[in-house]
Order: sequence, then structure tokens, then C-alpha cells
Amino acid sequence: MHTVYLGLGSNQSEPIKQIKNAIELIQKIETSKIIKKSSLYKSLPVGYLDQPDFINQVISIQTSLSPADLLERFQQIEFQLKRVKKIINGPRTIDIDILLFNQEIILTDDLTIPHSRMLERAFVMIPLMEIEPNILIPKISNLKEILGKLDKKTLTKIDGQSV
Ligand code: AMP
Repeated sequence: MHTVYLGLGSNQSEPIKQIKNAIELIQKIETSKIIKKSSLYKSLPVGYLDQPDFINQVISIQTSLSPADLLERFQQIEFQLKRVKKIINGPRTIDIDILLFNQEIILTDDLTIPHSRMLERAFVMIPLMEIEPNILIPKISNLKEILGKLDKKTLTKIDGQSV
């Protein structure tokens, strides 16, 4: 079995509902089961700023599927939840990113794992640390320094607590 961490994000059409729907569909993927779920977080958009705040969550799953098969399943789920892609970093009903796949480094035409921008994104790293405080990331020895540089003001736990 593989241990995989996923980053979920939505800022359209009732984002919390979108994340919940995505989780229900992820739960149904064959030979896969959800192990941990972070709290929900609200985050400010990055890149393209003229859009609603995002809701984000990080989950871990165990699966026997390959990274390519997982990507295909997640793209089906994104399609099912009617993700409309118009602007890079723009609004989306649901985004499912594969953050980590075991301790593997995977570089193909379709996949970069660890996810290429995860380390600079508070909305990924804070929820990830919440569910896996001792997480190991390939090639990263000083995670503390990376965490120290994150802009935590961009993120609020959905229960209103700041992080
Ligand atoms: P985005 O819409 O920004 O999430 O980008 C989706 C595209 O990113 C997909 O077509 C994937 O092939 C590609 N991609 C590269 N690395 C990853 C990853 N680790 N997780 C999910 N998608 C990825």
C-alpha cells in the first residue's frame, strides 16, 4: 500500500460542499481509503487575486493505485464536480493535488511529486503539519526553516482560529 497526501481546494459554488463531495468520491476509489483529514482552512487567493477566498483541506489516503491511476481518478472527480478551468490560478469548483506519494520523487509529463509549489503554500503546509507533524518530504532536511517562511496571515482555520 502507498501512503499519499492530497491537497484539496475550492472557491466556487459552495466550496465547503465541494470539498465534502470530493472526499465522498475519493472514499469510493477502489483499493483506497482515507486515513486522516485536516481541519478546513480559508485562504486568500494567490496569483490571480480578483476571486473569492478558497477553502482548503489536506487528507492522507492509503491506496494500491499508481500515481498515474490516481491522477486519472482525481481528474474524473474534478470533471464530475464540473471544474471549469479558464484562468491559471483562477476560480475553481475543485482542485485535487497529489502532494506526496510515499517518499518518492516522480517526474513525468503529467506529474511532479512532491507537488512543485507545496513548500511555499501556507494553505498546503499548515494543514499537512496538522495531520502529520513529523512529515518527511523527499530532499527536504530543514522543514522548520521552510515553515518559518510561510505567510500564515493568508490562512484561517474555519472555526475562526487564526494559525
Ligand atoms: P492545476 O489545474 O493547476 O491543478 O493543474 C492540473 C495539471 O497539473 C494536471 O493536468 C496534472 O497533469 C498536472 N500535475 C503535475 N503535478 C501534479 C500533482 N502533483 N498533482 C496533481 N496534478 C499535477
